[in-house]
Amino acid sequence: MLDEQCIFCKIIAGEIPSKKVYEDDWMCVFADVEPKAKVHLLAVPKSHFKLLSEATDDQMEIISYMLTKIPRIARENGCENGYRLIINQGEDAGQTVFHLHIHILGGEPLGDL
Ligand code: 5GP
Ligand code: ZN
Repeated sequence: MLDEQCIFCKIIAGEIPSKKVYEDDWMCVFADVEPKAKVHLLAVPKSHFKLLSEATDDQMEIISYMLTKIPRIARENGCENGYRLIINQGEDAGQTVFHLHIHILGGEPLGDL
């Protein structure tokens, strides 16, 4: 399930420190190390898979589950006024970590992309 080379798998396993704000059997949410907004969290599935475009039906169910949890997690972490969710898919989007993750950005007006 975990990939030994993957930085997010190491964070999930506690081998690399992170500021975790939420964890359950399926997902983990922690602060991005280089925040692009006042609040910048990363929601990751605990099982390793690389890309939205490659997600199996089971993995899509986990993404759906994550989306049901995110509103409360965002609200409880400083995004009461709204937030933006981003999934970077592949090279043109600038994806750098190939363990699927959802960016949660907020805590201030974000402006246009
Ligand atoms: P991507 O561009 O792949 O969508 O986003 C990867 C994100 O992971 C970036 O925003 C980057 O700052 C974050 N990141 C990379 N390495 C680490 C790390 O070791 N710890 C944490 N907390 N975030 C990381
Ligand atoms: Zn991983």
